[in-house]
Amino acid sequence: RKTIVWLRRDLRLEDNIALSKACEMSENVLPLFVFDSNILSKIKNKEDRRVQFIYETLLQLKEDLNNKGKDILILYGKPEVEIPKIAINLNVDALFCNKDYENYAYTRDHSVKKQLQAHNIQFFAFKDQVIFEEKEILNKQAQPYQVFTPYKRAWLAMYQREKIKEAKYKIDKLFSLQSLNGFNSTLSLTDIGFKAIHLQFKIGRAGGIECLQNFATKLSHYHETRDLFAVEGTSRLSVHLRFGTLSIRELFHFAEKNHSQGSDIWQAELIWREFYKMILCQFPYVEEQCFKQQCVNIQWHDNPEYFEKWKNGMTGFPIIDAAMRQFNQTGWMHNRLRMIVASFLTKDLLLDYRKGEEYFADNLIDFDLSSNNGGWQWCASTGCDAQPYFRVFNPAAQSKKFDPSGAFIRKYCPELKLLDDRYIHEPINSPEKVLTSAQCRLGIDYPKPIVQHDIQRLKAMNLFH
Ligand code: FAD
Repeated sequence: RKTIVWLRRDLRLEDNIALSKACEMSENVLPLFVFDSNILSKIKNKEDRRVQFIYETLLQLKEDLNNKGKDILILYGKPEVEIPKIAINLNVDALFCNKDYENYAYTRDHSVKKQLQAHNIQFFAFKDQVIFEEKEILNKQAQPYQVFTPYKRAWLAMYQREKIKEAKYKIDKLFSLQSLNGFNSTLSLTDIGFKAIHLQFKIGRAGGIECLQNFATKLSHYHETRDLFAVEGTSRLSVHLRFGTLSIRELFHFAEKNHSQGSDIWQAELIWREFYKMILCQFPYVEEQCFKQQCVNIQWHDNPEYFEKWKNGMTGFPIIDAAMRQFNQTGWMHNRLRMIVASFLTKDLLLDYRKGEEYFADNLIDFDLSSNNGGWQWCASTGCDAQPYFRVFNPAAQSKKFDPSGAFIRKYCPELKLLDDRYIHEPINSPEKVLTSAQCRLGIDYPKPIVQHDIQRLKAMNLFH
């Protein structure tokens, strides 16, 4: 028997359920990746960090395999066209993949499955991306949880009961280099319509393992440092989870082996990831709409000038500007900062959360529809188990609390770097003398605040009535 393993959000060979099942059931297994032209054609900026990450990761995977006399096939086009073509050409019996839970992926997989079945080629999809799928953790009424804490409790109880094992694969079952002759030319980024860029992330399986090793020394302090955005206290593994260079099972096992107060809190974050995936599957309307029905008619304001200033880090609120500038430069933002800028967009600028959600979706290297949507709706108070609408983050207070010396602001807003700790969070309150000696003219070197927080906060509360 010959099979294809179609890699998508699981760019690794280790602990890959589809690959492991394929190796159990067949003698000749071909790993395959398709750069999906349906998705890529919609990306406007052809210097895309995600495409770069995938591309470099695939090259690393290919090199690893080639060193062992094996290979991976990398194609470009519409999966529903390319996959049946190659499957028929290679005369395979079955295709194995790991489930992808987003709406587009369901439609795509359904179409590929139908085409393959028309040629008597079987299609198998496995749970791999999560520990528990959307219907595995339900409440006593067999309904999905809508509050995180009881969901987490039920999740952990189930995790204790089930022994979650990592999957093995056998390298000798993979197609040899020679047997792919004629099929396997290497695609360049230009071939798929993109330009190469420099990434500030470690790519591939090796990069994921390096990140995990770096984090091992920080895990036990995670509960104390996870909100301190000037300190690297979180794992920075989100991009690796997004593209599956590490498996979710490996991460839970890592947390168990290094058990501490910090690891319990970190595990809870990984469970938030599963919670939001469950919410997206069970309530697919959240992709377009507020989770809470009573929020559907909120009259968000429309102010393109404010939105531009938010995007470009020119609001006159140092913590917002520093966070947005870091984001624009790197494609990543710390969780606490994501919360602060999302709260600011919705509760200070009174703009529709979907505008910010879309900007994040276009630019986050770790963009994940369910976590991004869940995070935005949490901050906008429109979501499931969200921040209550009357709790509005004060940007300066958040900044003082989590980075008292303003180190993060100094890094990304260099025009403020000479201001002393007392004024850096709110330069508008700084005496003229202090601003002059810090060489910072408000309105010239650095913008004046575009809104007044206290006034906007009251307006935001009115939006919810
Ligand atoms: P760590 O603190 O080390 O956490 C470990 C892992 O747990 C993360 O890599 C991530 O997979 C998961 N995780 C952590 N926090 C959350 C959370 N609140 N919700 C869901 N999963 C979580 N995360 C994404 O992966 N993709 C997104 O598109 C995304 N968009 C967000 C948008 C907003 C407005 C907000 C508030 C949060 C968003 N998050 C998103 C969640 C979170 O900010 C990131 O996962 C985290 O900052 C990644 O950094 P890390 O890997 O160092 O996290």
